[in-house]
Amino acid sequence: MNSLEELAKQIKSCTKCELCKYRINAVPGEGLESAKIMLVGEAPGKTEDMTGKPFVGKAGELLDEALEEASLSREELFITNVVKCRPPGNRKPKAAEIEACRNYLLQQINIVRPKVIVTLGLTALQFFKDAERMQELPFEYTSGNERITVYPTYHPAAALRGNKIARESIYRTMKEIKNYKHSEY
Ligand code: URA
Ligand code: SF4
Repeated sequence: MNSLEELAKQIKSCTKCELCKYRINAVPGEGLESAKIMLVGEAPGKTEDMTGKPFVGKAGELLDEALEEASLSREELFITNVVKCRPPGNRKPKAAEIEACRNYLLQQINIVRPKVIVTLGLTALQFFKDAERMQELPFEYTSGNERITVYPTYHPAAALRGNKIARESIYRTMKEIKNYKHSEY
């Protein structure tokens, strides 16, 4: 099986969908290889594209505040996105792009084997479950022999646009899942 590092190399040179034409940097994701908690967003934005790192722009600042409130630090998580290259103008990734990129996230989940996945926004939720709209109820997702609890919450960009429900949901979710960082196998 690939290591996270090998996977990141493959992602950085990937040309499986047209998003490769627009990127400065692919953003594989980063964090702890043995993280119990994984956060999954939609796709890199401008700052992420410039730096090659996930959630380092304004949305990332909000996420950091919510993590800090829950006494979680990035070093004990793994953070990534459904799609690893920035869609032009931050449009939503197309179904074909999500499909082309699908295997990278599946492999990351296989390697990290988190106990909990927090989906940030509808695109990330839909990766794990057929859903037409946002829902916040946690559900079980099976990856090989592993049962992972998925906690859906809103995308930090929604909170930045002034959506109070989104902001509260993000903060609440981080507090709900924080104790998983100690969970044993
Ligand atoms: N929005 C996302 O969904 N992911 C990022 O990495 C940054 C902004
Ligand atoms: Fe490859 Fe995913 Fe980037 Fe498309 S978005 S080029 S599938 S890494």
